[in-house]
Amino acid sequence: EKISLEFLADLYPVTGTKIYMNLGEPDEIDRYVNLPFDGIGLMRVEFIISSKIGYHPLYLIDQGKPEIFVDGLADGIAKVAAAISPRPLVVRFSDFKTNEYSRLKGGDKYEPSDERNPMIGWRGVSRYIQKPYEPAFRLEVRAIKKVREEMGLKNVYVMFPFVRTTWELERAMKIMEEEGLRRGKDFKVWIMVEVPSTVILAEEFAKMVDGFSVGSNDLTQLTLGVDRDSSLLAKMGYFDERDPAVLKSIGMLIDAAHKYNATVSICGQAPSVYPEIVENLVRKGIDSISVNPDAVIRVRRHVASVERRILVENSIKKS
Ligand code: PEP
Ligand code: MG
Repeated sequence: EKISLEFLADLYPVTGTKIYMNLGEPDEIDRYVNLPFDGIGLMRVEFIISSKIGYHPLYLIDQGKPEIFVDGLADGIAKVAAAISPRPLVVRFSDFKTNEYSRLKGGDKYEPSDERNPMIGWRGVSRYIQKPYEPAFRLEVRAIKKVREEMGLKNVYVMFPFVRTTWELERAMKIMEEEGLRRGKDFKVWIMVEVPSTVILAEEFAKMVDGFSVGSNDLTQLTLGVDRDSSLLAKMGYFDERDPAVLKSIGMLIDAAHKYNATVSICGQAPSVYPEIVENLVRKGIDSISVNPDAVIRVRRHVASVERRILVENSIKKS
């Protein structure tokens, strides 16, 4: 039985920090739509591409069937956007690595076979601005445009993954504009913070976008130089999002972003798993926290208790 949002609003605390949810498979929204989240802070489209579409986008372009890609992507996104409207949906452009793209049907022909380190190779924005992938990025943009304009779902925003430099972001945003999607008051553009360069140059990036979202999985990997898939290093305790270097980076990011009125979110695994990170982030002034569906209620309650504690502490200080 469906529970109304109003009822849930009475059950769960309202927080100053927004609580967002992460989502991959569009059909899962049916199960989670009534959870008390303020929006979706990360929709991974890779699931739609690999499971629903199945084909490499460049293969479909060569077959004269790009609409299979555009429509498949648009339908998956629209399903979620309609279900959660008017709450916002932040869709991340695809971030497959080369080895993953080459596994899509018809894909190996379009992918470099000599990439030794796909995790730090041709992924994220570097794909969107470089042939042969660039025409496929245009299809991703067309799918977003279709959802927003033809289907009228204006609660859909976009997020660029694995950003490394300001110049690549500029070029990708220009391609997006050429396809008719321009960053504006009702169309927000976020970037993910996964490469330390985006923290170091956060002020420059903040002038270009509306928001940041920390991909703590990749940010931890690259800040500490630890392969996120290495079970050996994980067992030794090296892969740890709570490492002071990672937390200090996030603090620096928040300060820089807020100077230019850009918002900061986090969508990596960390706050879904570590309560102490949640407290740390709220105290640093993060604007939103995006967590796995099973963590939404717990994190909302936790954030509310931390915010109350901060209020009390501040009032004691004043008196
Ligand atoms: C991250 O890096 O924290 C992230 C959310 O992206 P992914 O896990 O998909 O690389
Ligand atoms: Mg990542």
